[in-house]
Amino acid sequence: MSHTIISVKNLVKNYGKFNAVKGISFDVQEGEIFGLLGPNGAGKSTTLEIIETLRDKTSGEVIVDGIDLDKEPNEIKKIIGVQLQTSGYYPGLNLLQLIELFCGLYNRNVDPMELLEMVNLKDKAKAKVKELSGGQKQRFSVATTLINEPRIIFLDEPTTGLDPQARRSLWELVKNIRQRGTTVIITTHYMDEAEYLCDRVAIIDSGNIIALDTPDKLIDNLIATGFERPKEMKLANLEDVFIKLTGHSLREE
Ligand code: ADP
Ligand code: MG
Repeated sequence: MSHTIISVKNLVKNYGKFNAVKGISFDVQEGEIFGLLGPNGAGKSTTLEIIETLRDKTSGEVIVDGIDLDKEPNEIKKIIGVQLQTSGYYPGLNLLQLIELFCGLYNRNVDPMELLEMVNLKDKAKAKVKELSGGQKQRFSVATTLINEPRIIFLDEPTTGLDPQARRSLWELVKNIRQRGTTVIITTHYMDEAEYLCDRVAIIDSGNIIALDTPDKLIDNLIATGFERPKEMKLANLEDVFIKLTGHSLREE
């Protein structure tokens, strides 16, 4: 049986006179990977940050696991994981020390080495954030969302700017996190990422949700309208060639 863990109703966000989010509604089920898919400026980060309690909304209703954002935002904070800005604040600390610091702040007893192992960064425990590659930084950032053992984590464009190996490695990490029962909300403007990773996606454009379904169903709906690709698709694409030639292994040094 599925359980609605996030319910958003008629959410509106205005920045001054600019209407960035125009009354969107959607539900997220516990245990799913839910994608907000849209071009730059669509309103993805705004929506995400409102649910994360990091930004005020103009109007609408947000309920997270039965908790009303308007009434008990601090209760919501306790059950969600947000990506922390680790590089700016504590440049002198290494990864292990940063995780220990956040464990203290959250009053949690997670094993920092276990967490680093989960995101494949055990070798880098003594490194500083600035010494990490782009993919490693993102994996560390994902690790920081897990410190308070949240029910839901929020990832805002976690693979933007990563090379194909690092991107695939992050996808597997996100799948592992969901495997443990954690709900994941992720924003992306990469269609292949949404198709591979998300159980359901809301396509958002100029502050409106213009479609919401499983990737499969969205594609089937399009085909049902008589749509055909102009050219027969090959069985592989250039990214497959690249991965075949350069391998799946991460190149981070
Ligand atoms: P996305 O994450 O989909 O790229 P955003 O939620 O960041 O979109 O932004 C949605 C729209 O709101 C954009 O047009 C952006 O310029 C505008 N916007 C975002 N933050 C602010 C802000 N603090 N002040 C004014 N406009 C903003
Ligand atoms: Mg954004």
